[in-house]
Amino acid sequence: MPRRECLNRRCRVLHSGPGPRCPTCTTQQEQARDAARGTTTQRGLGADHQAAARQILANAELCAVCGLPPTADDPLEAGHIRPRVHGGTNDITNYRAEHRSCNRGQGATLRKR
Ligand SMILES: [Zn+2]
Ligand SMILES: [Zn+2]
Repeated sequence: MPRRECLNRRCRVLHSGPGPRCPTCTTQQEQARDAARGTTTQRGLGADHQAAARQILANAELCAVCGLPPTADDPLEAGHIRPRVHGGTNDITNYRAEHRSCNRGQGATLRKR
């Protein structure tokens, strides 16, 4: 079997394993993927979430829940319009800017009257 250079730039070891990475890096990558699946991806905070959130916040001036501008105590953050538990996605169309308090479901009642 021909030996190949490990795909991991910081490794680059020559190996004859079945994948593009050496067996060590393959194992590490699988462990990292499992860890991500159990934590950030589960909560919907993967790379696609972060990219969408950045884009939403870059254009946001007002909270989509209460319609007020952000304050130092209560900055805007990206919230899901349709919660992921109800089938919402990390697509940018499923995001809106809302106060941290509104996002937590507190601001809307506190500010209403
Ligand atoms: Zn490697
Ligand atoms: Zn708000």
